Amino acid sequence: MSAEMKNFEPAEVQTLAAERRFLLDQSEWRCPACGEVAVRSYLHRADRPNRPTVISYTWCAHCRRATGATSPLPPGLTFDDPWADLSPRQREELEEDSDRMFAELDAMWAKGVLPQRFSGTGGGTRRR
Ligand SMILES: [Zn+2]
Repeated sequence: MSAEMKNFEPAEVQTLAAERRFLLDQSEWRCPACGEVAVRSYLHRADRPNRPTVISYTWCAHCRRATGATSPLPPGLTFDDPWADLSPRQREELEEDSDRMFAELDAMWAKGVLPQRFSGTGGGTRRR
């Protein structure tokens, strides 16, 4: 039985968007809701007709809040996707059961499969 997911409040999503640059720094981030450093993200490339798109899921592993966003794929950005082999139907089933989906994402994070490795982010190889 996995913990039930809730949504971040709009103000919390704004705080994250303003402060966090996940493509440049994949470490866990301070959660605007609970204050724990447990905010994680998973990105999925979705090739819509004529428009490469990236779907991002951001969640807090501590208080189980989450948010999703869809945006254009930044030019040149590439990354690995541990769920690349899922069929559209399997992915749909996962997304319909967000408790299970985020539990599986947390398991992959614990194993070091996540965070994904990104290149072409414009951030070079600098590390903080
Ligand atoms: Zn939290």
